[in-house]
Amino acid sequence: MIDPAPPPTPDLLLTALRGGCPRCGEAGLFSGVVTFAPRCRHCGLDFASFNVGDGAASFLIFIVGGIILGLALWLELSFAPPIWLHALLWIPLATGLTLGLLRLAKAILIAMEYRHEAAAALSEANDGPD
Ligand SMILES: [Zn+2]
Repeated sequence: MIDPAPPPTPDLLLTALRGGCPRCGEAGLFSGVVTFAPRCRHCGLDFASFNVGDGAASFLIFIVGGIILGLALWLELSFAPPIWLHALLWIPLATGLTLGLLRLAKAILIAMEYRHEAAAALSEANDGPD
């Protein structure tokens, strides 16, 4: 018996960058800024069945915090600007980086979870019943 070919999967990073569905690659993974849509409008994949957890958010706190802290220290030590300039720069930058990277990280995590489950299901189907 010939094994069925696995379905083609879209490129993980490109799909995540445009917020695409992990199965068909069409845009529409998010219904809000960082909120998943209930299901794919194109292929019907149920996004609610995936659980990406809060790992991405806690990991991003360290990345974004490190970037903002480094830039703020550099600016302060180099130019000693007034405090309002720090607030004007770092609050929007931290918010934008957090939301942008959180969206990307959640899209990558759901794509990886989908691929893992698809590979496991294909392997289970090939093994057949006992
Ligand atoms: Zn889809």
